[in-house]
Amino acid sequence: MNHIRFEIEHTAYAKIYEALTRFGDYEIGGMLVGYQKEKHHFTIADATIADDIGKFSIFNFIREPIKSMKIVSQLFKKNRFHYMGEWHSHPRFTLTPSSSDVKTMQGILIDKGYGVNFVLLIIAKLNNTKVNMAGFLFHKDLPDFVPATLTHNLSSEIEQPISTFKIP
Ligand SMILES: [Zn+2]
Repeated sequence: MNHIRFEIEHTAYAKIYEALTRFGDYEIGGMLVGYQKEKHHFTIADATIADDIGKFSIFNFIREPIKSMKIVSQLFKKNRFHYMGEWHSHPRFTLTPSSSDVKTMQGILIDKGYGVNFVLLIIAKLNNTKVNMAGFLFHKDLPDFVPATLTHNLSSEIEQPISTFKIP
């Protein structure tokens, strides 16, 4: 399970960067959509911003699942993307899942409306003009989440390789 890799495409990266810039110290987030490239290699092709579809507060990120799922199914039909997970910012905290983050992700895993075996959580933070990201994989067959490897294929353009968080 540790070998699962998620490649962040430029569209998704740019949307997250733009949202982090716009929302500053406010937590912001949304959904991740993409597709499977190889057996243990997934691509995050696009990201939604909760501002478009839900609401947010400085301490607690909340989105509206029903509206969000509509957007996902529209993207899915148009581009053959699948729901891959969630992303949100920790402007003032470390890039590790909080207990409510873990509960949210575990809730998605058991929610038949999502119908997924695994779900990716990306926690992001603006670092000057760069984005630091950490990925966490929640899987039905695993009792706990594991760190996920994130890569970005246009890192030279962004001038920022994505830093991955490693659990010691
Ligand atoms: Zn969080």
